[in-house]
Amino acid sequence: MKNDILIKNALVWSEGRLLKDRLIFISEGKIKKIGAPGSIKEKVSKIIDAAGKIVLPGFINSHMHFYSTFARGIYNIKPSTNFNQVLENLWWKLDKKLTDEANYYSALFPLINAIRKGTTTFIDHQASPFAIRGSLSKIEKAVRDTGLRACLCYEVSDRDGYEKAQEGIEENIDFIERAQNKKDNFIKALFGLHAQFTISDKTLEKASHYGKELNCGFHIHCAEAKSDQINCQKNHKMSVVKRLKKFNILGNKTILAHCVHISEKEMDLIKESQSAVVHNPQSNANNSVGIADIVKMSNKGILLGLGTDAMTVNMLEELRSGLWLQHLKNNPSMGFVEISKALMENNAKIANRYFEKIGIIKEGFCADIILIDYYPPTPIETENFYGHLIFGISQSEVDTTIVNGKILMENKKLKIGIDERELSKESIKLSRSIWKKL
Ligand SMILES: [Zn+2]
Repeated sequence: MKNDILIKNALVWSEGRLLKDRLIFISEGKIKKIGAPGSIKEKVSKIIDAAGKIVLPGFINSHMHFYSTFARGIYNIKPSTNFNQVLENLWWKLDKKLTDEANYYSALFPLINAIRKGTTTFIDHQASPFAIRGSLSKIEKAVRDTGLRACLCYEVSDRDGYEKAQEGIEENIDFIERAQNKKDNFIKALFGLHAQFTISDKTLEKASHYGKELNCGFHIHCAEAKSDQINCQKNHKMSVVKRLKKFNILGNKTILAHCVHISEKEMDLIKESQSAVVHNPQSNANNSVGIADIVKMSNKGILLGLGTDAMTVNMLEELRSGLWLQHLKNNPSMGFVEISKALMENNAKIANRYFEKIGIIKEGFCADIILIDYYPPTPIETENFYGHLIFGISQSEVDTTIVNGKILMENKKLKIGIDERELSKESIKLSRSIWKKL
């Protein structure tokens, strides 16, 4: 059939196993068959030879902020000596200047770069307090223009007053309803909340009410810096996770980003609620907030994913950095399995709470597949695959990116019909006008 693809000679990571010399037959956006040479007889319009490459599921970034794009190279901001100053001096200055147009462009750049790095699905968290209404539709357009998948939300917060919090709630409700009605597998929605320290009881209660009514999970920053816990104790006489539980924010569709500063008791509450925790090691290091105890959280059975918090769209870079930080925090034997599983298993588990059948190379699943150049210098098997991934494959280039059976990049050339030079010109103009207003 037209648009059917056969990948041959594939060394492929499939359901936690490394399979050698496989054929992968893709039709109607799905992985229809995975078999030994000669086992697939269907006629196809396209054959991809995967010799000299490794075939992996497209990566998932479980915590992202597209809106941060215009912070790149920013210079006219005050230096910060702690996390709250980073918010006040950088993020809460920049996000107030974002317009509808800026929201679109700031999503487009990381999305295009993601195709190059093999990241095919994002779970994003948006903030643009003076362009709240319609912001998620602008991002949706960028996602659809690039052919990737994203689960979007708007961060509700009282930091700019009651009205803005209400607008944020409305933007979430409208977008969630629209995404639920469309029922396609490219755009999904969560109810976004900034972090407990910028949300009043009244707003939290309202958000919780609508989130439940829509049968929707929440996406919130949780105990990213110690100051979040100090604030919660001071103002509410309880821990951060306890406050989220009190307002029914926890649950099996909820994502708690960071959890750097949580107690064992809070871990138990998270586990009990089946909420997912998303670890963002590079961001935590950059903001100097600490290193999350991913080993303890994993041992407790918490579903732990990996995100980048907009530091990069390169999930293999995040994976490596995450491992180095665990070694630095503990010793050189710690964190290897936890961080590898967060990317290669748990991110798919988290994403499949919202999307249908993505993130695994398996018959019946969506054909989100990447090919990375790789000639191993040592034996490569299921048992040592993560070692190759972290120390070798992460240093290679992505050659081909396929989403839902559509080739978005082949031989390292984008095939999405976007003129990057023109786009960059427009974006530079736009960012200059935003920086001037800071
Ligand atoms: Zn974040």
